[in-house]
Amino acid sequence: MFDFDLFVIGAGSGGVRTARMSASYGARVAIAEDRYMGGTCVNVGCVPKKLYSYAAHFRYDCSDSKGFGWQGNLPAFDWNVLRDNKTAEISRLNGIYDKLLDGSGVTLYNGRARLLDKHTVAIGDKKVTSEKILIATGGWPFVPEFPGSELAVTSNEIFDLPTFPERILVVGGGYIALEFAGIFAGLGSVTTLSYRGDIPLKHFDKDLSEKLFLESQRHINMLMNSNVQEIVRKDNELKVIFKEGNTLSVDCVLYATGRKPNTENLGLENTRVSLEPSGAIAINDQFETTEPGIFALGDVVGRIALTPVAIAEGMVLSSNLFKNTNKTMDYNNIATAVFSHPNVGTVGLSEEQAKARYGEIEVYESDFRHLKHTLSGNPERTYMKLIVDKATDKVLGMHMMGADAGEIIQGLAVAMQCGVTKAQLDSTIGIHPTAAEEFVTMRQPRA
Ligand code: NDP
Repeated sequence: MFDFDLFVIGAGSGGVRTARMSASYGARVAIAEDRYMGGTCVNVGCVPKKLYSYAAHFRYDCSDSKGFGWQGNLPAFDWNVLRDNKTAEISRLNGIYDKLLDGSGVTLYNGRARLLDKHTVAIGDKKVTSEKILIATGGWPFVPEFPGSELAVTSNEIFDLPTFPERILVVGGGYIALEFAGIFAGLGSVTTLSYRGDIPLKHFDKDLSEKLFLESQRHINMLMNSNVQEIVRKDNELKVIFKEGNTLSVDCVLYATGRKPNTENLGLENTRVSLEPSGAIAINDQFETTEPGIFALGDVVGRIALTPVAIAEGMVLSSNLFKNTNKTMDYNNIATAVFSHPNVGTVGLSEEQAKARYGEIEVYESDFRHLKHTLSGNPERTYMKLIVDKATDKVLGMHMMGADAGEIIQGLAVAMQCGVTKAQLDSTIGIHPTAAEEFVTMRQPRA
């Protein structure tokens, strides 16, 4: 009756995984993409960001190496080499995505898909029908409107700047702002971060955010309670005028003020799909929208905007649709990292959330200088925090700022998922000498 069993709109992390898994369960699947294979994460998100973060760290590695006997000057940084190598790598990944879909028997349509009704999708002049439809169109950077806002760039453009910005202003206090401020400071830009609140990473554990703020100040000019009023182009530079009365001249302004669900021009008005007040597509716990048979997941539903979450949602949905299961997504203990300088990694509840939910908690902390920095002379601190439920001894949250925080927290997230207790951490033998061993050697709760 229909051309396909499932038509997926958007070939990002969530869409591609759902398409491939559904096809592997025997469904006839098509996917449409009008921009780039792999979506935000592969093209203008996680992957190129991590490559640029590696690039930025070499500056610190070079200066750290002096105390270990490596003498000489810092090599010159060439933006064009980094940008072009990144572009080549992303093209390679785009090709892999194409092959993966092809190999799974998924039909690929290159073009913008628009819903004509609950079973019909138009891609250019083509019309196809599908029993079920998945909207996995992701998010799009949000820039507030103000005079000169069109002069700012977003994470969509920042990777491909034609020239390296010697001076950059980053606006925002979330993941993207902290990551790019750290990257450009490391690459050698004079970097300023403007945030409207007191301390960035507002939704993270407060101590962790404060520790990162203190470290960031050593590389980045951190303007807090700061609000941009206007950006003016002046010859070859941008003049930023703040509501507080100060001004700043830079070569580039990066706005990292959040992302909005990408729902425009999808033909949603031809269906009964409805939106939340936030603009996210409203779904139930089976990812079904208010139009039966149309599903949505990933950043467009605005739950947790992380690639591995979209992928996990896709695994649940494809299994429910084509393997007759009745799974729901578990959003607890989702570990996350901010690839700031230094990195931040976290899983579970912040101290503030734990107190509100559990009442009596114990907090264990360790704040130290990494062994490496005894010789490097680098004053960077490493910070770790454990939050424990006093009644049950269960670990409620683990937080870290320091080198490889994401790598370390990933392993600990497994323990959290298994319900680890403080006593079990205590009975774990550490690996010496590592920073991570601190997580199993913290004995005295904070007074
Ligand atoms: P975030 O939601 O993390 O942060 C947005 C920031 O912009 C906040 O600090 C917010 O301030 C500020 N802001 C919002 N509106 C305005 C405004 N009108 N004027 C000034 N400031 C404003 O968004 P990001 O864009 O950094 O990232 C989007 C999402 O992408 C993240 O939430 C995350 O889920 C995902 N991501 C994950 C990464 C990772 O896993 N490492 C990396 C990058 C992105 P306030 O704090 O006051 O609300």
